[in-house]
Amino acid sequence: STQASVLGTSSSSFPSSHAKIANPKDTPYFVDNEFRLSATTEFIDVHDPATNELVSKVPKMTESELEEVLQAAGSAFPAWKGMSTIARQQIMFRFVSLIREHWDRLAAVITLEQGKTLADSKGDVLRGLQVAEAACAGPEYMKGEVLEVAKDMETRTYREPLGVVSVICPFNFPAMIPLWCIPIATITGNTVVLKPSERAPGAAMILMELAEKAGFPNGVINVVHGAHDTVNYLLDAPSIKAISFVGSNQAGEYIFEKGSASGKRVQANLGAKNHAVVLPDSDKDSTLEAITAAAFGAAGQRCMALSALILVGETKHWLQELVERAKGLRVDGGFEPDADLGPVVTPQSKLRINKLVASAESEGATILLDGRGFQHKKYANGNWVAPTIICDVNPTMQCYKEEIFGPVLVCLQANSLDDAICLINANPYGNGTAIFTSSGVSAERFRKNIEAGQVGVNVPIPVPLPMFSFTGNKRSVAGGGANTFYGKPGVSFYTQLKTVTSKWAGRDSQPGKMALSMPT
Ligand code: NAD
Repeated sequence: STQASVLGTSSSSFPSSHAKIANPKDTPYFVDNEFRLSATTEFIDVHDPATNELVSKVPKMTESELEEVLQAAGSAFPAWKGMSTIARQQIMFRFVSLIREHWDRLAAVITLEQGKTLADSKGDVLRGLQVAEAACAGPEYMKGEVLEVAKDMETRTYREPLGVVSVICPFNFPAMIPLWCIPIATITGNTVVLKPSERAPGAAMILMELAEKAGFPNGVINVVHGAHDTVNYLLDAPSIKAISFVGSNQAGEYIFEKGSASGKRVQANLGAKNHAVVLPDSDKDSTLEAITAAAFGAAGQRCMALSALILVGETKHWLQELVERAKGLRVDGGFEPDADLGPVVTPQSKLRINKLVASAESEGATILLDGRGFQHKKYANGNWVAPTIICDVNPTMQCYKEEIFGPVLVCLQANSLDDAICLINANPYGNGTAIFTSSGVSAERFRKNIEAGQVGVNVPIPVPLPMFSFTGNKRSVAGGGANTFYGKPGVSFYTQLKTVTSKWAGRDSQPGKMALSMPT
């Protein structure tokens, strides 16, 4: 189709290798069900992290183009809100089946732009698709409540959409994060302006092609591009009623404050430092396997990656075995069939990670496994960082205090479970944590006392499926985590409750004295 050719990919041919792209295209924006090219002269280059070859250019859209998109989303709202939830559900069913049909293509563009392995990109799409599948139950979620509250009088509630909502996305889950939001925002009757990450826009663009095919009316789902200026434009726009943000603390805390100050609803999921606690009674092999996968999978660029390990008591002697497992991982281009982890997203990211590892060294930690010098023969220009394990870390070190967001595991020791719990609770982040133990008593003590939003017991990355909600805590969420993503809280975030009390009765034949006081 012409739309697919604008995107430079089509369902029959999509990238399957890190080969240089002959003719990198400008990424279009999407408005009124059309891909349009921006007239801007300023672009952000998107590179394949395995080769640093140019993949596409993302426009820093002009203000008049941004205005055009907001107008379209605003104009589409009344009719979309007026459509029955059951009619919207029919469109969602088609959207779901199209995403499944184009699963491989979505995964391929993620691997090309973001670097993660193809198998992991497929997981990225699936986790988002599952939210869209759950959103098909929209009519159930939209049902109100009713009660006869007095004689001839009833109160009932209606859920109503907010209007135009905006979604601002990070680079690390290019399909999942847009799909955490689009399905729930639209099934509940809102229209959407999505800003993908300027580093990995391709999956969002394919999702737009599928949304149009599924039958979303013009203007219901739109995509804008850019970086800080585009976000500021969205924050200032009075027509935008809510903002869903996922990304770093630096951006998210600013967006939360500015958005909330202008009366918008804001949900914001931020950075993390997720700890795993290993008790001596855990099953050694399965524990070390789970930790290796959760620390180094996706090159550590997951907000739920296990990036800090607390070895309790005797388990400090397990470190060498962990190093051997990490050494066995294959660092390779994401399209290579046996790759365990790909490159990190940009050269700047690699530089930042290497600096944090160097800081650990200068602050007295021990680099047990050093992935900084990793060279790839076939992809010599990639942003490579191989698995890195740092031990003798203490909580005052920079490598512990900062989110590294790379394939780097920092290791600490504790004498007891309670010491481990104190350590984790003192950390400002609270996205997720995991304990490995065969003792139900220890697991229960951990579960009750730990200050983290998502807890795994012998499960390394306990991201809740869409029938639950993503429940980060502390500095991993803005605003105390009141507005969580997807699940029933996601429906609450994107809707306003209206409570109507009605009285349907004739006037009493013998009216009493008119009462001006509150009924008691
Ligand atoms: P980022 O904050 O750099 O970018 C996220 C979005 O914000 C992008 O669309 C970007 O254009 C915009 N942005 C960046 N800086 C801005 C600024 N100063 N003003 C306005 N807009 C700005 O994040 P990233 O590097 O793309 O993603 C990685 C981060 O996201 C990590 O910290 C990770 O932990 C976090 N993350 C959290 C979750 C979660 O659910 N808690 C999930 C995924 C990623």
